[in-house]
Amino acid sequence: MLYKKEREQLADIVKKMFNRYETNTAGGNVSARVSDQHIVMSPTLMSQRWHCDISPYQVLVVDMETEKIVEGDGAITREINMHMACYRHNREIGAVVHGHSLYSMVFATMGMDMPNLTEASQKFGVIKCLDFAPATSQELADTVATYLRENVKDQVTNTLLLNRHGVLVTDKNLERAYDNLGRLEYNAYIAEKALLFDKLGIMKLENKDYNYNVHE
Ligand SMILES: [Zn+2]
Repeated sequence: MLYKKEREQLADIVKKMFNRYETNTAGGNVSARVSDQHIVMSPTLMSQRWHCDISPYQVLVVDMETEKIVEGDGAITREINMHMACYRHNREIGAVVHGHSLYSMVFATMGMDMPNLTEASQKFGVIKCLDFAPATSQELADTVATYLRENVKDQVTNTLLLNRHGVLVTDKNLERAYDNLGRLEYNAYIAEKALLFDKLGIMKLENKDYNYNVHE
């Protein structure tokens, strides 16, 4: 089996995502660059049909140029276009994680940037919510590509909110990208509560310039 270790890791991570409400039955997909030519990627309907409980062989090996399956059991999701937009934007990007993550979706659905409040998420900078484009559409992939090109340049760590839809996270490898998703979700949970505390007059949310550790 090609890229056995990487496909086992990916199958393991998508299970965790589902169990941790980092994606839901409506979708989500994950990919990782494993060579100059190939990515490994979760198959279409992974969430809807299998609740993300997939075997490593169901993780597809896909040729980046032809976007055809090299090995694996299943079909390619249409949302590969969003993943390829990230890989084509920056060769240093080695993994893309897309989820319908519970707490982040509050902000994504409101169409608002997420206040970045926790120390562990400071390295993300501004957590931007992109303009709406329909799920799986080329328009959505183009929206992602345009945002990366115009705002991000060579940044490898990215955390974007997809309006009314979910989140898109990138990094140099899958371990780091999934770590980012966890940090993003915790920050979303905190930010939602913090905004409510502020609004209810329980405690003012202050924006101070702390001496954050952004490297951990
Ligand atoms: Zn989606």
